Amino acid sequence: MSDIKEEKGELSIHTENLLPIIKKWLYSDREIFIRELVSNGVDAMTKLRLLSLSGEAKDPGELFVDVCIDKDKKTLTFKDTGIGMTGEEVKKYINQIAFSGAADFISQHEKNNDLGEIIGHFGLGFYSAFMVSDKVEIFSKSYQDNTDAVHWVNDGGTEFSMEKADKADRGTDIVLHINKENEDFLEEFKVREVIEKYCNFLPYPIKLNGKEINNQHPLWLKRANEVKDEDYKNFYSKLFPMESEPLFWIHLDVEVPFNLKGILYFPKIRHELDSSKGRIKLFCNQVFVTDNAKEIIPEFLTLLQGCIDIPDLPLNVSRSYLQNDPYVKKISEHITKKVADKLNEIYKKDRAAYENFWDDISIFVKYGMMNNEKFFDKVKNVLMFKTSDDVYKTLDEYKEKNKGINKEENGKQVVLYASDPEKQAALIDMCKGQGLEVIYFNSMIDVHFIQFLEMKDTGVSFIRIDSDTNAMLSDDKKEKIVDENNKSVDDKIEELFNSILKPEENKSLKIKVQALKDTKIPSIIVFSEHMRRFKEMNAMFCGEMGGADIFSDHTLIINSSNEMISKLVAAKDDADKKELVEKLVLNVFDSALLAQDNLKGEKLVKFLERTTELTGMNL
Ligand code: ADP
Repeated sequence: MSDIKEEKGELSIHTENLLPIIKKWLYSDREIFIRELVSNGVDAMTKLRLLSLSGEAKDPGELFVDVCIDKDKKTLTFKDTGIGMTGEEVKKYINQIAFSGAADFISQHEKNNDLGEIIGHFGLGFYSAFMVSDKVEIFSKSYQDNTDAVHWVNDGGTEFSMEKADKADRGTDIVLHINKENEDFLEEFKVREVIEKYCNFLPYPIKLNGKEINNQHPLWLKRANEVKDEDYKNFYSKLFPMESEPLFWIHLDVEVPFNLKGILYFPKIRHELDSSKGRIKLFCNQVFVTDNAKEIIPEFLTLLQGCIDIPDLPLNVSRSYLQNDPYVKKISEHITKKVADKLNEIYKKDRAAYENFWDDISIFVKYGMMNNEKFFDKVKNVLMFKTSDDVYKTLDEYKEKNKGINKEENGKQVVLYASDPEKQAALIDMCKGQGLEVIYFNSMIDVHFIQFLEMKDTGVSFIRIDSDTNAMLSDDKKEKIVDENNKSVDDKIEELFNSILKPEENKSLKIKVQALKDTKIPSIIVFSEHMRRFKEMNAMFCGEMGGADIFSDHTLIINSSNEMISKLVAAKDDADKKELVEKLVLNVFDSALLAQDNLKGEKLVKFLERTTELTGMNL
């Protein structure tokens, strides 16, 4: 009994020029036709397998998709051993391509680039073949007994022809006559590359010219307790061949309230600039969809790498809709929670390991804390700080050890920090001498992060060690004795330095006299914590490369407890020593600038000359 009469007809489409639109639209992403056609083959095999399981079809035998290149004929054929189609089915599923919904959607979103990803979900996947072909043929034979095979041809217009075919074996062959502009799709390496990208993890053998090339058992489908560390690492290097070993990973396996499986890897992120590194590949039933799934994966997690497979993902809607979809929101929350749980788990189980990779994940964790309230709450107790004692501490541990640091008026505990341990070595030493620890911050994100932590209920206030509010530097117990003119030594020191350094002519400099706890250092330069932060933020917003010019407002603190300073004051009125005193005062200031790595050019040359001269005098 034959249901196929030779037939010609018009494809029933609402919009006249649907095919040209598809071609134009998907042009930037032409390769997805391979994904669409292979997926159709896989769907056809899945349908057959289900029918066979329920006894409605015979044992399907070998199930596979074979993509065959024929360079001479310039064809690319997608052959599957799936359910096949009868003539009626071809009419119904292939000829009537545009149900109104899809056509409307297309005309509305013609300019939308996302469409390449969504198109397969509107029953238009098959037609993506026309992006690269002048002519497409279908040879199909249904699994149902007593049905004829069918041959369908379309040459890119709205007309098709259909006739009986003599295909004997069950399944479908889609033959693409590749057009001139797309002959690269007749190259084996090119086709292989695309299949590996989109179809590598499909659950049936995918062959290229008869040779199986995919991995049908993606690791994420296995149970975590069946997978060894080595397997995770190997899988990672397959997904991201150019990367070094991941730090650790999370195996996601959720069944309720939604279905989600996947593996998230933590790569080494040493630098903010590395932040473009992350890529989480999104799969839908093992078919690769995209590695730009912003809506599903919270933004801060995109620093991670890996894959997630969400079989029920509502992809047939626009991206802006996805953002507000409660289902998508739940997925995103779940992933966030899992990542936070993992960090806590490693911290508790193996603190040494956690500390070991803290430097690599700290940017990620800080970024996440600032971006996601729930994540903040979950990881705030496993946030680490490297300190000047060369250990890692949580904020609570730091607070406990450094109780001696003065509390601010508002009762918040001061946390001392350094932004550049090398440049600030002298000040760090001063704090260590008092048994105090200094936290090291060293990334751009820290400028924001400090501010952020202070706003949160952490009970701390961060003060950089070279800040004018760092009370730990000064020794306020030192008495002030005044002379007969009611002038203290401090006043005299100030007068001396003012007369030589002339701060009134240099608006960026202030001079202050103070007794420092460290008597060895004659002077230090400090900055206003508030102003400095403001400038750093500003510089960052304006994208200034060299960072903020914090020296546009700095204070030179002269240490009244230092012996040399005392000698300078004593000698200041001695006419014979006038020149020497002046040179030494200049050197005190320049040394402080040098300690901050801010003595350059002409000033540096003069300092070196002066120093040579002064040292020579001692001979
Ligand atoms: P979609 O696959 O998204 O439904 P397509 O345009 O790709 O849209 O295909 C339309 C329909 O044609 C499919 O739903 C299926 O019923 C049928 N079809 C396409 N390719 C095959 C195939 N290789 N084997 C069997 N049926 C197919």
